[in-house]
Amino acid sequence: MSTRYLRSLSLMLLLGAAGSSARVLAQATSLPTVVVLATGGTIAGAAASDVQAGYTSGKVGVDQLLAAVPQAKKLANMRGEQISNIGSQDMNDEVWIKLATRINELVAMPDVAGVVITHGTDTIEETAYFLNLVTKSRKPVVLTAAMRPSTALSADGPLNFYNAVAVAANKDAAGRGVLVVVNDWIHGASSLTKTSTTAVQTFLSPVSGLIGTVAYGEIEWYRGPVGKNTVTSDFSVDKNTVLPRVDIVMATENMDGALIDAAAAAGAKGIVIAGVGNGNMTKTALDALAAQAKKGVVAVRSSRVTTGQVGRNVEVDDDKLGLVASLGLNPQKSRVLLRLALLKTTDPKTIQRYFDEY
Ligand code: ASP
Repeated sequence: MSTRYLRSLSLMLLLGAAGSSARVLAQATSLPTVVVLATGGTIAGAAASDVQAGYTSGKVGVDQLLAAVPQAKKLANMRGEQISNIGSQDMNDEVWIKLATRINELVAMPDVAGVVITHGTDTIEETAYFLNLVTKSRKPVVLTAAMRPSTALSADGPLNFYNAVAVAANKDAAGRGVLVVVNDWIHGASSLTKTSTTAVQTFLSPVSGLIGTVAYGEIEWYRGPVGKNTVTSDFSVDKNTVLPRVDIVMATENMDGALIDAAAAAGAKGIVIAGVGNGNMTKTALDALAAQAKKGVVAVRSSRVTTGQVGRNVEVDDDKLGLVASLGLNPQKSRVLLRLALLKTTDPKTIQRYFDEY
C-alpha cells in the first residue's frame, strides 16, 4: 500500500475531526450501504517501487483498499469482506460459487443498497458474466479493477474504486444487470472485453456499447443491459453446485481434430471453438467437432475475432451438424453460458435458444 494514500487518509481524518460530529453522524446514517467484496487482482497488487513493471497481484487486503480511498466514504457507508486474494488468472469455480452465494445473501438484506467486487482484469469479464447470470436482484452489483498496482505511479485503482462505489450507491443503477466500472466507463457484463495487455484503457464494449459513464462519481446513463440477466435469468447456483467442464479450442491454419478429441477425452461436456472469422475452422476440425456433437458433447462455434457476431448456418451447416452458434458472445463468455446451460440440458436446440436470449 502506498504511503501516499495512507498519508491522505490521515489528513482526511484530521480535517474530519474539525467538523461537527452531529453532522458527520447525520450524513453517515443517510448514506446507502455498499458492501465491498475483495477477490485480489492488480487493484490489490503491490510492487517494490512505483515505476516497475513487475508486481504481485493480491497483496493488499480489503481494509487497506477501503482506507486508501477515504473519499468514497462520502458516497456510501461501506464494509468490506475478503473473499479471496488472488490474481484473477487463478480465478476458479470455488471462488465463483463463494462470491455468487455471498452476493445473493447480501442483496437480500434490506439495508444493503449495492455490492462492489474488486477483481483482477484478466478474467473480470468472465466473472462479471457469470454473476450476471446467477445473482438474483435488481440491486447494483458492480465489479472494478485496475491495470496498475496500488503502489504504481498514477495508480488507476483508487479512482476506479471510487467510481464503482458511486455506481453501486446509485438508485438508477438498479435493473441494469451486473456492471463493470473501469477507467470512467460503465460496461455491461455481456458486452465488455479486455483488449490490451497493459493499457489503462483496456476494456471496450465493442459491439453494443457502454451502459454509461462515470467521472469522479458523476454518472451518465446510456442504456440497459443486453440479454436476460439476474432476476430474469433461468440459471442459479448454490454452494453444492459443480459446474461441468467446458474447454475452449482455438482454430488456426492447418488445424486438425486432436485438441477437440483431447478435450472430450479429458471429460469436457462442452467444447467452444474460438473459430477463425465467423466461427469457422478447417474441414478436418469441423468433422471432429461434428463427431463429438453426435456423441453428445455440446459444441459451440464462437470466434477469435474481437468484434462481430457468429451467425448460425452461415458457412457451416449448424442445423445438419447439431452445432450451436455463439452469436454475440466471445469464446470465454460462451464457455460461461455453456457451463450453466449444461446444468439444465444437453439439447443443442435449447442451448441455442439460451445463446439467443442471453
Ligand atoms: N493478472 C492480474 C489479474 O488479473 C492483472 C490485473 O488485475 O490487471 O489479477
